[in-house]
Amino acid sequence: MRICVYCASSNKADPRFRAAAFHLGELLAENGHSIVYGGGLAGSMGALADGALSKGGEVVGVIPRFMADLEWQHPGIGDMQVVEDMRERKHRLLTGSDAVVALPGGCGTLEELFEAITLKRLGLYFNPIVLLDTLDYWQPLDKFLHQVIEQRFMNPEHAKMWSLAAAPEDVLPAIENAPKWDEHARDRAVVR
Ligand code: AMP
Repeated sequence: MRICVYCASSNKADPRFRAAAFHLGELLAENGHSIVYGGGLAGSMGALADGALSKGGEVVGVIPRFMADLEWQHPGIGDMQVVEDMRERKHRLLTGSDAVVALPGGCGTLEELFEAITLKRLGLYFNPIVLLDTLDYWQPLDKFLHQVIEQRFMNPEHAKMWSLAAAPEDVLPAIENAPKWDEHARDRAVVR
């Protein structure tokens, strides 16, 4: 599989987040999956790529030109694709991916995650979306999204669009066990 991983740029968060990112990179590479990610060196992004590269994994980076100009990209990535802007990067990360994994992160990660969930709701993306829940990071968001459903801004079926994985070892099983999502998603997009 080609797995799109959204992750944080912060180096200041608890080091256990970066350790989990590194371990996920190792596991994806060991299981023969390629990774497409934001191409950065900092934070969980760099840790994920380092983990995958340490196991000989295939890693694709997609970085906007202004970040490449600032030399924010990971120097060890063979396939580093420089794009014009953040929008093109987001599009290229998601398009052609077989699954999305969101690691704990800031507004950049949240934006990417919400785009994937929104496109899935509209039947424009069909693949699993897994949130790596290191240190219970995503619990408040998961709770909030269920409240969104309770308040009838989304349908109960929409809760099947994402799932949580407690540890890096749980990510691939969560991808495999994700509920199927198909072209009928569009019929369910509107709240009834
Ligand atoms: P966040 O989760 O808010 O850290 O955002 C992650 C996103 O912001 C990724 O798409 C990153 O490429 C981008 N980003 C922010 N700061 C940096 C940085 N210093 N180096 C590389 N990417 C960054």
